[in-house]
Amino acid sequence: LSDRLSGVLDKLTRRGSLTDSDVSEAMREVRRALLEADVALDVVKDFTEKVKAKAIGQDVVKSVTPGQMVVKIVHDELVAMLGSTAEPIDLNATPPVAILMVGLQGSGKTTTTAKIGYRLKTRFKKKALMASLDTRRPAAQEQLRVLGEQTEIDTLPIVAGQTPLQIAKRALEAARLGGYDAVLLDTAGRVTIDEELMDEVAEVRGVTQPHEVLLVADSLTGQDAVNTAKAFDGRIGISGIVLTRADGDGRGGAALSMRAVTGKPIKLLGVGEKWDALEDFHPERVAGRILGMGDVVSLVEKAAQTIDAEKAKSIAQKMRKGAFDLEDLADQLKQMQKLGGMGGLMGMLPGMGKIKSQLADANIDDKIIKRQHAIITSMTPKERRNPKILDGKRKRRIAAGSGTKVEDVNRLIKMHRQMADMMKAMGKKGMMGRMLGGMG
Ligand code: GDP
Ligand code: MG
Repeated sequence: LSDRLSGVLDKLTRRGSLTDSDVSEAMREVRRALLEADVALDVVKDFTEKVKAKAIGQDVVKSVTPGQMVVKIVHDELVAMLGSTAEPIDLNATPPVAILMVGLQGSGKTTTTAKIGYRLKTRFKKKALMASLDTRRPAAQEQLRVLGEQTEIDTLPIVAGQTPLQIAKRALEAARLGGYDAVLLDTAGRVTIDEELMDEVAEVRGVTQPHEVLLVADSLTGQDAVNTAKAFDGRIGISGIVLTRADGDGRGGAALSMRAVTGKPIKLLGVGEKWDALEDFHPERVAGRILGMGDVVSLVEKAAQTIDAEKAKSIAQKMRKGAFDLEDLADQLKQMQKLGGMGGLMGMLPGMGKIKSQLADANIDDKIIKRQHAIITSMTPKERRNPKILDGKRKRRIAAGSGTKVEDVNRLIKMHRQMADMMKAMGKKGMMGRMLGGMG
């Protein structure tokens, strides 16, 4: 998958400019990647169309390579769609905050209930009471009780013969009286969605007025999980999703589909059977996993600051010799322009913050870079290599030739001198060379 995408990337890279058909070609691969990741077909269609429109509209000239650009757009759009940031469980309500766990049988509700209780206790220092409303499966209430014992989280005492609703009411009451921060209500599931199940859950929801209704869904069930989410959200209304068995799901497609279909955040990921195997949902990670190109994306991040490695090396050599002349400055200005203005070579080097801020002080934006470039172009090669010979007369000639003022010429010369001095100082220490060398 990753290979294939980088293959497209290479192709686009070589081509150098982004056309409609370039984007379409990349999108075909992205589409395939999404489908392989088990993203629902409708979602894939919507997504690729949206991104395509965006990519074609983008100004790629001043950015990195077109291929990298497409991948970056795809990735960013995926992250945005997945929800951008991790959304925690919301406990912002009068305690005891009721959290209702819903979902199909075997999706991991009971396990997740204990996991959340454990997380509330260990990470947020909140005291939770857990109650199983599962009167269907004989051992269900006992299962939660045992989990409670193991995690040292209180569970509601089991009373035989009560309905789910009666248990729910009793749990709320006990949580209130016991001064609990949260009450976790684990419900019964069915193998498939049916009316009876929905009625029961809806009734519990109505009576308990939970602050969170978390749908627990098995990420390995792919499209079924999506349908389940749709059904539960439509009928009960959910506030978030917990995707279980993410430990066995290398694809992450269900997350994207469920998010796209319900608009509800994926709040947590179950990543194992143990009660501490619960993670925050990180959209960035999942987006990378879906595209199978985490590395490519980080490469793209870096590429935003890419410079010609060869040039960097030769500049590094000159620096070491203290021979950074105005030709080199012109090269750098060109680089900066290519990279979209400020930043450039200076900005990407660790320890060069000072020069960078000087450049910022000098207010170097695109227009100024162009002007400075014009100034250098108006110099003779001899002047560029040896700025010391620039006297008043030469400066006036250069200013006239570049349509600038003598002050502008002076400012450029001063900036160059400062940069050269600093580079020489760093070059002596060998730092610069190492830094630039490491970039090749
Ligand atoms: P429920 O019927 O929805 O209450 O499901 P359970 O909580 O009883 O879980 C069913 C099975 O799935 C159990 O064997 C759990 O250990 C397992 N399980 C739950 N969550 C995860 C998870 O995130 N990863 C893995 N590998 N197994 C899980
Ligand atoms: Mg259960």
